[in-house]
Amino acid sequence: MNRPIRPSHVHPAPIRLALVGIGKIARDQHLPAIAANPDFALVAAVSRNAVIDGVANFRELDALIASGLEIDAVSLCTPPVGRHRIAAAARAQGWHVMLEKPPGATLGEVRALAAAPGPTLFASWHSREAAGVPAAKAFLAETRVTAAHISWREDIRQWHPGQEWILEAGGLGVFDPGINALSILTEILPGRVRLESAILDFPKGRGAPIAASLALVHDEAARITAEFDFRQEGPQSWDITVETDAGPLMLHDGGERVTIAGAAQDVDGIGEYPALYRQFASLIAANLSDCDLAPFELVADAFLVGQRTESPPFTF
Ligand code: NAP
Repeated sequence: MNRPIRPSHVHPAPIRLALVGIGKIARDQHLPAIAANPDFALVAAVSRNAVIDGVANFRELDALIASGLEIDAVSLCTPPVGRHRIAAAARAQGWHVMLEKPPGATLGEVRALAAAPGPTLFASWHSREAAGVPAAKAFLAETRVTAAHISWREDIRQWHPGQEWILEAGGLGVFDPGINALSILTEILPGRVRLESAILDFPKGRGAPIAASLALVHDEAARITAEFDFRQEGPQSWDITVETDAGPLMLHDGGERVTIAGAAQDVDGIGEYPALYRQFASLIAANLSDCDLAPFELVADAFLVGQRTESPPFTF
């Protein structure tokens, strides 16, 4: 909603942070981004099994609360199912909350969190921080969009090894990465995007789709198609093409590279997760929240109207 300017190092004293759900993304991205940001001091980790050296470790948020350790903010990296309970308990303590994407398991639970008065709530969309996104948005603001296509194909075994939760109900399946594409799309297109239809491919016995095809429309005029597939072996693709009256815009590598009318643009970013923590610090300093649900609404609509097909059983 409110997107304040992003000064770095906005806090006189570091924000005392607890990281919750120590898995792949917490270790790959959150820990380095927090360590590099002087606005934050990581003081605790909450995870049922994992621990982080050098900070206080707890198995449950309730144990952190009971410890009396002084905390200002939490960043939640658990799977989406169950995240609402943790977020609500943290907000009840007066702690600022940053949510990994997707911001929860249901629209209703995230709306309930956002509606309750309290400290900063930041529903993060890391792909919106990819280096090419601002240039794409600026170009599209000045052009007429005529069509768009998303191809988001990755190998679930490579990027989500052993994450059984992702193919359970509420785990979003291929929409776990696919929602990243939708977060970029809804950021760069100047008008409204809505879903028209979807085909969802559920492996036999699984509660979430492993592939999906979407038909969407922008401003009731431009057709958008999207192909999400978790079974991609070989070259992976995280690409968005937008056709405009000023030539095509292409985003590659999840938005890190951008080409406009055939010319590669010179773009630079500080990195997706460093940008997210910078944004979290500025939201806290300005006493603001940022909880845009547009990408999540498109996914929810795909589950509402999507035709379901069944493919053979899938094992990791
Ligand atoms: P992950 O590797 O499975 O890590 C999640 C951690 O949360 C687990 O290691 C687990 O640690 C804890 N947890 C708590 N309750 C759990 C439950 N009921 N089931 C499974 N784990 C539970 O997953 P991840 O890839 O880090 O993804 C976490 C979130 O980050 C997701 O929302 C995902 O969309 C987002 N994300 C992931 C990536 C990526 O590339 N993987 C990229 C961007 C965003 P304990 O067992 O110690 O509790």
